[in-house]
Amino acid sequence: MKIIPLSEGSFTVDGTKKFVPFDPAKDNLKDRPAGSLLVEVQPFVVITEKDILLLDTGLGFTMPDGTLQIHHNLMQAGINPMEVTKVLMSHLHRDHAGGISKEDAVLQQRFLSFPNATYIVNKQELEIALSKLSKSYAIDDVSMLAETDKLQLIESEGVIDDYIFYEWTGGHSPWHQAFWIKENNETVFFGGDVAPQLFQMKTKFVTKYDFDGKLAADLRVKWWEQGQKENWKFLFYHDIKTPVFSF
Ligand SMILES: [Zn+2]
Repeated sequence: MKIIPLSEGSFTVDGTKKFVPFDPAKDNLKDRPAGSLLVEVQPFVVITEKDILLLDTGLGFTMPDGTLQIHHNLMQAGINPMEVTKVLMSHLHRDHAGGISKEDAVLQQRFLSFPNATYIVNKQELEIALSKLSKSYAIDDVSMLAETDKLQLIESEGVIDDYIFYEWTGGHSPWHQAFWIKENNETVFFGGDVAPQLFQMKTKFVTKYDFDGKLAADLRVKWWEQGQKENWKFLFYHDIKTPVFSF
């Protein structure tokens, strides 16, 4: 399997949940509000024998010329966004789901960013996003997706096409899910925001931004041990330095 990280850059995020671009060469973390986290925003493409998989969709920001940043990044990697066959969503917070669709400024209409792909989403995660109970969700993207036939709702745990394994994890958001892509004795693991950064795997601690921090911490310990035994490749969506890690 070929793995391509599609970094959208580094950002700080604080209690307002707004992602503010951060340039390590120019910006100082001390100038940002207290408690700000420094994170990468980094969707992944995994090319398998059957699919071009996209793992989460990024912030949905646009380049100065109006191109969606994730489209730009895909094309830089030699992939036409029309070729993406499946979009696997860990959860629907804005930094992961903002690139699901894009509003066309001229037509004033929203279009799916990956029109030939099936978007694979946890059913309850979609319901909670649509309920508008939390401001963390990409509500415009999610509402639009819910009205299309490109949505495949999944629940609990299971397998797609005999090689994409998924499991409801909770932890970060109540209905967050993780994916294991298994092909030719290789396992690529995407733990979304329950396993977002390498250092979090190595030190057991409970974060304040998780829905159930204790569960998320326990899952990281479990996955770190199992991944080491089974030789998983870890994909870290928010890691500044290490997008892909294998033992
Ligand atoms: Zn996130």
